[in-house]
Amino acid sequence: MKTVKDAFDVFKTSLAEIYTAPEAEAITSLVITEVTGLSRASVRAFTETELNVVQSERLLTYLDDLKTGKPIQYILGHTEFYGLPIEVNPSVLIPRPETEELVEWILQTIPRNSGYNILDLGTGSGCIPIVLKSKLIDSKVFAIDISPSALETAQRNAAVNKVDITFIEADILSLKTPEITGQKYNVIVSNPPYVTNADKLQMHRNVTDFEPHTALFVPDHDPLLFYNAIAQFATNQLVKGGNLFFEINESYGAETVDMLVKKGFQHIELRQDMAGKDRMIRAILL
Ligand code: GLN
Repeated sequence: MKTVKDAFDVFKTSLAEIYTAPEAEAITSLVITEVTGLSRASVRAFTETELNVVQSERLLTYLDDLKTGKPIQYILGHTEFYGLPIEVNPSVLIPRPETEELVEWILQTIPRNSGYNILDLGTGSGCIPIVLKSKLIDSKVFAIDISPSALETAQRNAAVNKVDITFIEADILSLKTPEITGQKYNVIVSNPPYVTNADKLQMHRNVTDFEPHTALFVPDHDPLLFYNAIAQFATNQLVKGGNLFFEINESYGAETVDMLVKKGFQHIELRQDMAGKDRMIRAILL
């Protein structure tokens, strides 16, 4: 591979079995950007740019990794979420564009300078609370996860993005830690595990083989397991008028809304993601 164009060609052919052509192209330009230090725009515009031996060898190493189906974000060790740099590794889910839409909704809803208490349950890389804290700077933000290595990643992400968040190791299914239960929240948000075995069959191998199963899967017989527990917790821990935000499984929108109605939530709104799938819920506790 002597030029950027050669690299595009080699990657395209080698990745054709795993990725669609546009996916392969997007991945290739990310990798070339990483290796050459050029901007993404120049990588695409100046494909005759020459690669030196070191660059070309590094590209081939990345390609070997990509051919195993490993997601590019894990290979590079970082991604972007809502414009912020986020370190990722196999202990955390790779942040999804749908979750950016959820964050966008929260930011449109929550007044600035409100000094709100915000809690994120099952934080993973910390992408949700980090964006919220960086935009709502006078809020107090708390986040929990069951996985110590996810929390370490989230701590590093908060440090890199220079935001102050209280991270606590805890299980969504038994939230008894006094540091969490000792106060009320204006906003509780969660993108908990929601993938069932039935969904798994339709998922890309690079998700199911590489991303953390604790963050993804829920038992088939109880797809709302985490939503029930969080809603129950929220009925005690939200202030009057407080907001609960969920990212949800597209197949369980109606069930999740029903469950929230039964628990006494009001003004429940179900929204679709950009693919038109039921993906987010906002509910208020009056
Ligand atoms: N949206 C993710 C996926 O499709 C799942 C996220 C989750 O389980 N919370 O892989």
